[in-house]
Amino acid sequence: MTFAEAFDPAATRRLAEQVQHASEGHIRAALGRDGRELMPLASVAALLSPAAAPLLEELALRAHRSTIERFGKTIALFAPLYLSNDCVCTCTYCGFSRGLNIRRRTLGPDEVVREASLLAGQGMRSILLVSSEHPKSVSVGYLTECVAAVKHIVSYVGLEVAALETSDYKACVEAGCDGIVLYQETYDPQLYPRYHTGGPKKNYTFRLGAPERAAAAGARHLGIGALLGLGDWRFEVLALVQHARYLAAHCWRSQVNVSVPRINPSAGGFVPQVPVSDAELAQIVCVLRLALPAAGIVLSTRERAVLRDGLVRLGITHMSAGSSTEPGGYTTPGEAGEQFHLEDRRSPAQVAARLAELGYEAVFKDWERLSDAPAARLQETVRA
Ligand code: SF4
Repeated sequence: MTFAEAFDPAATRRLAEQVQHASEGHIRAALGRDGRELMPLASVAALLSPAAAPLLEELALRAHRSTIERFGKTIALFAPLYLSNDCVCTCTYCGFSRGLNIRRRTLGPDEVVREASLLAGQGMRSILLVSSEHPKSVSVGYLTECVAAVKHIVSYVGLEVAALETSDYKACVEAGCDGIVLYQETYDPQLYPRYHTGGPKKNYTFRLGAPERAAAAGARHLGIGALLGLGDWRFEVLALVQHARYLAAHCWRSQVNVSVPRINPSAGGFVPQVPVSDAELAQIVCVLRLALPAAGIVLSTRERAVLRDGLVRLGITHMSAGSSTEPGGYTTPGEAGEQFHLEDRRSPAQVAARLAELGYEAVFKDWERLSDAPAARLQETVRA
């Protein structure tokens, strides 16, 4: 059974509504649970409730402890590298949406190499290639060419692009892609078509199944998430927890990371329907940590520097740094439209220095894919 078949949006919606009436007793019972056991979804919901907000300090302490036990005081840094902003889709919240009057650009592979080399010069060893959806200018052949080129420069290459078929993911993995990031945006199948009104991204179910297809193709890291601001955030976080647990159980060869990006201003002037406050975002990060103790939690430069510094202590394990959301934005800034506005403009070195002040170590390289030959030799050594 796929996650699309297993996921019950109506039951999740009911749970999200019930938490409006959670009591302090429910929350204390959820906080008192043994952290080594999987937290039931009803307890996760209780911790997301309005009644849990006054207990944020206690929640934060539990989340902090859980993170330190599992991950230590390290934060993996990565940089997004935008390949293209040419898009055939209409997504009402996005600055690259079809029909918006922005400067469109798709980088050639040589330009991608220049961008990646600049990032590598700043110490980055983990790059996420990001692109809009365009079957012609951002074809699978183009993506594999970009992945292979960047793989010569850094040790980790991820892809955040259109939802693909398993065979296309396989081609990307064979070219050197280590991980796939693909946010469902909203897990609410009724809300989804209101925000995705044109292009291939309209297909909710095809998108929902993409992380499983990526895992079947051999992607070692899966990044999933919900875009906060589109709908009821409690529903979205409950759905995200279910999705992450499903992937951890069924795609166990892959590490699962989760993310909860908030909508930022973009060229389309979209206004979030259900804004999420800083305190609510902190509550979400804490609950994700306790509900998903083994998952990486990713935080982007959408958030302000001071807030990012604070959230590090609660459960974040991966952060972007020194980012640009514009194709060519590192080497030739200003020549194309950006996807959305960024808040944290610090360089990777500044982010690393601040993490050190907070007692954390910035990790630029935490992944190296071995070819089959050394792995086979290692197996022989172990057997001997
Ligand atoms: S969210 Fe992605 S698919 Fe939708 S308009 Fe933006 S770039 Fe295109």
